[in-house]
Amino acid sequence: MAHAQFQRAYAAIRSGIPHEATVAADRCRALFEELDDARGIWRAAIVQALCVRLDGEADRSIRLLQDLASHPPADATPTDLFIAHVALSLGYRFVGLLEPALKWHYQAVDTARDTHDSLLLASTLCNLGGYHSDLHNPEEGCRLLEEGLDLASACEADRTTVIIALNLSQAYAALGRHDEALTLAERYLPVERYLRAIGGSEPMVPLTLALAYANAGRADDAQRVFDDVRCELVRSRHEDGTPQVFWAYVEARIALVAREPARAAEIALSTLSELDERAVDSPFDLMQLHATAASACEMIGDDRRALFHERCRAVIRERLARLAAHVASLTHTIRSELDTTRAERDRILALHSELEREHERLAALNSALTAQIAENLRLHDELKEQNFRDALTGLHNRRYLYERGPKLLESSLHNGLPLCLVMLDLDHFKRLNDLNGHVVGDRVLVALGKLLRDGLRENDVVCRVGGEEFAMVLPTSTAAVARERLARLLAGCRQMRGLESEAPLPLDLTFSAGVVEAPAHGATIDALMIAADRLLYKAKNDGRARIEVAADAPPAAPDFIASSPAARETIDQ
Ligand code: GH3
Ligand code: MG
Ligand code: MG
Repeated sequence: MAHAQFQRAYAAIRSGIPHEATVAADRCRALFEELDDARGIWRAAIVQALCVRLDGEADRSIRLLQDLASHPPADATPTDLFIAHVALSLGYRFVGLLEPALKWHYQAVDTARDTHDSLLLASTLCNLGGYHSDLHNPEEGCRLLEEGLDLASACEADRTTVIIALNLSQAYAALGRHDEALTLAERYLPVERYLRAIGGSEPMVPLTLALAYANAGRADDAQRVFDDVRCELVRSRHEDGTPQVFWAYVEARIALVAREPARAAEIALSTLSELDERAVDSPFDLMQLHATAASACEMIGDDRRALFHERCRAVIRERLARLAAHVASLTHTIRSELDTTRAERDRILALHSELEREHERLAALNSALTAQIAENLRLHDELKEQNFRDALTGLHNRRYLYERGPKLLESSLHNGLPLCLVMLDLDHFKRLNDLNGHVVGDRVLVALGKLLRDGLRENDVVCRVGGEEFAMVLPTSTAAVARERLARLLAGCRQMRGLESEAPLPLDLTFSAGVVEAPAHGATIDALMIAADRLLYKAKNDGRARIEVAADAPPAAPDFIASSPAARETIDQ
């Protein structure tokens, strides 16, 4: 809805209907305000500013546009900016302020490049190129128009192509580059093409082709084109837009080239006598008409008139040369300022994308490093774990006992909780090996390892500390509880049969064990191991297949624990 109003306003501005444009622009702005759409409001304000110019307030329109162009919304697209810049260029051109008009024209070309819309760029180049021709600076005009022509013809935009070719051919003619002017005019401005492309609405097109023929000395071709299009020209002649001076100049020039100086003088002089020269908006064409009049008069021997028109020509020429020099110098400054700005902008953009690339590279490096660190930590843990494991049984080893044991002991002592240490040794294992072989002996060790591991709690530490010797740390267990557990394990050991898939293990395997409790029998792992070993030795001596618990071990929880109910709850009963 808001966008439809925007289009309506824009179309009304283009058709020069101020009232309709203002109504649509105001509605468009109100709708965008309701939507709280900052970009929409900004665009609507541009159109409103254009309406202000259409209403005759050109200066206020420029002030509004200047303000809008300096404060575009954050999400303004290049096309949005382009509309503002073009509006400013035309606004300044309208009020005749040469320098800002040129500046904003160049800015509009620059912004049009950012839109990547070739046709938009071609039209903008055409506008600026035409402006330079008007300012009698055809060199710069040619440069811009040539670029525009390439773009427009690549887009196959017939109308724009013909308009640009028209301007360019005239610019070549102004520079005396008549061959190029004719080549271009013959290619792009023949009558059929012109009628097809712009429906005969621009009489300058065939006039320019006729002039190109005349300047090339081809009077017949020039006359043919001129006569061909005469009816068309008359028909399409606009009340106020008739290129009267140009028309007369072309017609007189053709007559001159056709060696009909009297006719040439008549056409030129009659037009000049009817003209209010101050109102002519194309002084270059006026100068050419004077020049043609001077030549024609000279050829027919009217030296007085020839001299007069030659003087008129010289006066205009001097004025135009001064203007051209001024425009050329302004253009030079504007272009170099724009180039500097653009180079700076490109440099910042390049720097920005370089920084972004660097950032991405660092992020990739960082994540690779993080993954590497995680992998190293995992490897480290794996190695550490391997370092603490017994390869045959998968149980922990002696190294682990000395790593973990002291910490468990310290924590138990600190919390006033019991902890038992058990030393366990298989009975007559040598004999078992001798009778059944080492392979069977190994299987027995693996099976016993599993029996011990499964039969104890997860936080009990079970280590293989020698060939068929095992040490266990049972935190929070009293010696009495440890004895019970070991008794169950001994019963289990006696019934060990191994895996079903394997041959049964030899019957009646037993172990002997010594149990001590901290802190009663030792306050270090070493001391506890020595004490437990001593009891194990006693168990062996006393007939094996038995669990020896230190005689002086307290039968239940020690007194110092009884006073702490919290601690008491954690003790295995
Ligand atoms: P005791 O009841 O007095 O402990 O008698 P024992 O035969 O078990 O005693 P001893 O300590 O003399 O023998 C231990 C045997 O354990 C010696 C060795 O052949 C065997 N052994 C040690 N490590 C391994 C092992 O990794 N695999 C096998 N199959 N046997 C082992
Ligand atoms: Mg043994
Ligand atoms: Mg042994």
